Amino acid sequence: MDRDDITEHLRFARELGVDGVSTDPSWRAREDAAPRSAEQAQPEPHPEREPEGRTTIALTAVDALAAVRADIGDCTRCKLHTLGRKQVVFGVGNPDADLMFVGEAPGADEDIQGIPFVGRAGQLLTDIIEKGLKIPRSDVYIANVIKCRPPQNRNPEPDEVATCEPFLFQQIDIIKPKVIVALGKFGAQTLLRTLEPISKLRGRVFEYRGSKLIPTFHPAYLLRNPSSKREVWEDMKLVLKLLAES
Ligand code: SF4
Repeated sequence: MDRDDITEHLRFARELGVDGVSTDPSWRAREDAAPRSAEQAQPEPHPEREPEGRTTIALTAVDALAAVRADIGDCTRCKLHTLGRKQVVFGVGNPDADLMFVGEAPGADEDIQGIPFVGRAGQLLTDIIEKGLKIPRSDVYIANVIKCRPPQNRNPEPDEVATCEPFLFQQIDIIKPKVIVALGKFGAQTLLRTLEPISKLRGRVFEYRGSKLIPTFHPAYLLRNPSSKREVWEDMKLVLKLLAES
């Protein structure tokens, strides 16, 4: 069984509600193979040894994100794969993060390194997270709506968004952050399905897939308009308040 087969198997198992696998060969021959009730099938957060010797390994957020990444593979699902992208930029950070940042699409530096927000705008975002929020960057999760760099950093096109955004939705549903910060007009408008300008969206809290979503200005915009840092700091204070409340 190759990696794709394993990934597909894990995904299928999750859809069926399976939350773990046994490493005990005798478990395969068990007689009580009847389906377990939902109550009996409560997922275990960590591997543990059960009384009869069955070892259960829970499918963690790490496993689930790895399965999504493997599913994306060297993606050719939209035309961006033919337009000069070097690699897929999946996402980075803590799979159990309380706080998630979602940007638009990788830029040149991200395309080279395969990590979101690593250029000048990325350094500013890191400062906002570490110096402003006082949270290590490795404790949050950072991703983009689109996983491949559009040519000349143009805006992603509707067909590209429609093809790629399900991967972001899977990331959000696995991580289940308490708070999502949508960075910039494109990220916010795409997630919220609105054409309202970012200046009208920021400063507000939206319900989104079980999380609180706060739009704010993109760090690249802040590099061009440093006076807007004050508004972003107001938004970050709102983030801290929501994290403290939840
Ligand atoms: S942008 Fe998304 S859908 Fe398009 S090729 Fe990249 S990973 Fe695939």
